[in-house]
Amino acid sequence: MGFINAIDQWLEKKNEKRIALSKSQGICPECQGKGFNMVGTEVYITNSYYDCPGCNGSGSFADWLETN
Ligand SMILES: [Zn+2]
Repeated sequence: MGFINAIDQWLEKKNEKRIALSKSQGICPECQGKGFNMVGTEVYITNSYYDCPGCNGSGSFADWLETN
């Protein structure tokens, strides 16, 4: 179990780092400030995307913080 815990902690650290970086840039960590997320590989066929649920499509860190 110690091994699993180590991975969990590593992922958590990585996530915290990503969020801290996004915060310093003022962008949403889920979409990197784009305001939308690509839908897997289908995007190449349909060219569709959906608004980022984290920031409601604004791409701003403040909005992401409010929804999280
Ligand atoms: Zn976003």
